[in-house]
Amino acid sequence: MNQCDYHLTGRVVIPADPSYPEARQGFNRAIQQYPLIIVYCQNEYDVSNAVIWARTYNIPLRIRNGGHNYEGYSNGNCTLVIDISEMNRISLDDNQNILHVQGGATNGQIYQFIAAEGCPFPGGTCPTVGISGYATGGGWGLSCRWLGLGCDSLEEIQLVNHESCILVANRSCNSNLFWALRGAGGGNFGVVVSMKFRLPPKVDFVTLIEIDYLHVTTAEQEVFLQTWQSWLSGADPRATLIARIYHSPEDGLAMLTRGIFYGTLQEAQVLMQPFLELPGARSRIESMTFAEAVNIIGSSYPPYEKFEAASRFAMREWTSSEISSLVELIQTPATGAVFTGLSLYSLGGKVSEMAQDETAFYWRNAHFIVWLETIWEDNSVQAENELWINERFPVLAAVTEGSYINFPYNKLPNYLEEYYGTHVCRLWATKECYDPYNSFSFPQGIWRTAQPAQVPKPIGDEYLEDTLSREANRALYRGFRYV
Ligand SMILES: Cc1cc2nc3c(=O)[nH]c(=O)nc-3n(C[C@H](O)[C@H](O)[C@H](O)COP(=O)(O)OP(=O)(O)OC[C@H]3O[C@@H](n4cnc5c(N)ncnc54)[C@H](O)[C@@H]3O)c2cc1C
Repeated sequence: MNQCDYHLTGRVVIPADPSYPEARQGFNRAIQQYPLIIVYCQNEYDVSNAVIWARTYNIPLRIRNGGHNYEGYSNGNCTLVIDISEMNRISLDDNQNILHVQGGATNGQIYQFIAAEGCPFPGGTCPTVGISGYATGGGWGLSCRWLGLGCDSLEEIQLVNHESCILVANRSCNSNLFWALRGAGGGNFGVVVSMKFRLPPKVDFVTLIEIDYLHVTTAEQEVFLQTWQSWLSGADPRATLIARIYHSPEDGLAMLTRGIFYGTLQEAQVLMQPFLELPGARSRIESMTFAEAVNIIGSSYPPYEKFEAASRFAMREWTSSEISSLVELIQTPATGAVFTGLSLYSLGGKVSEMAQDETAFYWRNAHFIVWLETIWEDNSVQAENELWINERFPVLAAVTEGSYINFPYNKLPNYLEEYYGTHVCRLWATKECYDPYNSFSFPQGIWRTAQPAQVPKPIGDEYLEDTLSREANRALYRGFRYV
């Protein structure tokens, strides 16, 4: 029997297991990694056991929920992956309008659960994205200008820390940790096992906005971006839109906008007039329930892709020559690319109403997120596609600032400043307080690299005697005690 069968609890998958080849995959199949062990935790105790086991054997830990991290940071070669996707219970505290979500739930599972309640939820566009990664990184969604970022509705988080203890973080208890967990991204402070979200008021309907323009010209893409900029500067906060210019073999040069509007169909038609007037617009503007709208938006995602991408924040209006240089970026796709796009995700509204220091999400005052992406299918063109983003990044960086932690890019030169701006120092201090030995690490983790890592406190029987005095906990760690 394998050693880990004795001491880890939960559903344990090792390389010899027939399910391992699929279990080790994330959404971005361009990244292939081979963990030593994947533990599908069923409850908090499995998480605690996995943390303590990995620390005992000095095996690097990774934490995984939906596996959508662009750079594969929820996985790693020779690591132990704590996968919490099977901890996905959701319940509603009706009296207080609070949604209780286990850390392994996904956007889609939450949307499905609240559909019956008639409530919207500030989740993301992709149904298979995990709520832990999404909300701890800020969480941009098609309701954010009206309802705020995903993290803005958080009331409380429970996490298993590096000592395998459960910590509660909210505004009055472990408040620095709560601050950090709203915007600093997942994977740094411990394993989020549950979250409480305050739900927004019920809505009977929203208006879904979809406008497409196929086979357009470079000049039309420039006009589209100009329209977007001036539209956003005075836009109704009830509307949140994505705008995208792209290039694909089927659609040629093309562009689109998608969004949710918390108002009537008639109001939406007036609001979207500047986009509807552009030549070739094919629109679908329909009133429907929030659940129907997020289902339609979510249905466009494939189960996985191979891609490379980089994100930035637009902090000011672009000049027309800057717009031309950005449009130019996607005119010549990388060899073998099946999709090349520049996407703009609107911010403002409720997002910028919250003070910049209230949560760790630093870029509240940005106008929108900018995202450059190339997708391919054939492995032989991966290097060219990666280079394609890398070569274009300086042009993007010249007119933007910072990067969104939920859209990470592993080639950022000063990633901490790019993701966190001046919040870095407070995040370092929080990290040193809550994870002093950097037990939860990954290539772009929060860690003051200039400082030598502290020597971890040895853990084993002595630790158990000290910490796990209660009988229930002793039973829980029985497997570990026989190591
Ligand atoms: C197709 C697609 C669509 C997307 N759409 C949006 C969108 O609309 N809005 C948006 O803001 N973002 C979006 N994202 C980005 C997404 O929000 C982030 O990649 C997010 O971190 C993914 O979370 P995950 O749990 O699915 O991924 P994972 O890869 O499992 O985790 C992401 C990070 O969080 C950590 N983590 C995961 N679970 C936990 C936990 N329980 N405790 C502590 N740390 C944890 C991981 O270690 C990793 O660092 C999208 C990504 C993709 C690939």
